[in-house]
Amino acid sequence: MFNSEQLLISVLFKLFIYRIAIVKNILMSDKEILIEVTGLKKSYKVTSKNKLEVLKGINLKIYKEEIAAVIGKSGAGKSTLLHILGTLDRPDSGKVFFDGKNIFDQKEKQIAEFRSKMIGFIFQFHHLLPEFTAIENVMIASMIAGDPDREKAESLLTEVGLQDRINHKPSELSGGEAQRVAIARALINSPKLILADEPTGNLDSENADFVIELIFKLRRKYNQTFIIVTHNEEFSKKCDTIIKLHDGKTVDN
Ligand code: ADP
Repeated sequence: MFNSEQLLISVLFKLFIYRIAIVKNILMSDKEILIEVTGLKKSYKVTSKNKLEVLKGINLKIYKEEIAAVIGKSGAGKSTLLHILGTLDRPDSGKVFFDGKNIFDQKEKQIAEFRSKMIGFIFQFHHLLPEFTAIENVMIASMIAGDPDREKAESLLTEVGLQDRINHKPSELSGGEAQRVAIARALINSPKLILADEPTGNLDSENADFVIELIFKLRRKYNQTFIIVTHNEEFSKKCDTIIKLHDGKTVDN
C-alpha cells in the first residue's frame, strides 16, 4: 500500500517524466530537415552478369545542425552512401532532397556548383596537396569556388590551433596537424553540410580526441551539419544521431 508521501513522490515523478516528454517534443518539432533520402538504391557491376547491391532502399532524415554518425561493418555501404550524399556519385534510384530540393534533378554543372558551395569533405587521409603550404591548401577550395579568401583561411587555421603552422607544407606537419588543415579546408566555403569519411581513422587516440572535440566546437560556432562515417564507438556515441547500415538498409539502434 502507498502512504501519502510515496503517492506524492510518485505523482511528482510522473509529472517530471511528462514534462521531459513535452520539452523533447517541442525541441524535436523545432528541428528543420536539411537532408531527406527516400528509396535510395545503388549497385555496382561485378561481372557482365552479376551486380553487387550495396544500398537497397535507404530512407533517412538529417536535421539542420545535427552531427550524425554512419556506422556499420566494413563493406556495409557507408562510403557509398556518403559519396552519394556528397554528389560524388549518383544513385541508381531514389531521391536526395537538400533543403527540400531534389539534388539529382539538376544538370551536372548545377550539381558541381551545389557541391562546391554547400558541401565540405573530410577524408580519412588528409589528401592535402604536397607542393602547397597549409594556408594555400585551405585557400585552394575558395579559389575553385571563385572567391579566394586568405584572411578566412588564416582565421580557420587559427581556429583549428595551427596559427604557427600556416606556411608549413604537409610533409612538415604531423598526421593530426595535417588532418586539422583538411578540416579548415572543408570549412573555407562555409558549407551547410560537412561529410567526413573516417576522419579519425588514421590518428592516434590523442589526436582523434582533439579532432572529435574540434568537430563539436565548430558545429557550436558555425551551426553546420555533419555526417560522419566512423568506426570510433566513443565518437559515434557522442553524436546526435546514429545511422546504422546493415545489409544495404538502415537498422534501428
Ligand atoms: P564501407 O564504407 O561500409 O566499408 P563501401 O561503401 O566502401 O563500404 O563499399 C560497399 C561495397 O561496395 C563493398 O563490397 C565494395 O567493395 C563495393 N564497392 C564500393 N565501390 C565500388 C565500385 N566503385 N565498384 C565496385 N564495387 C564497389
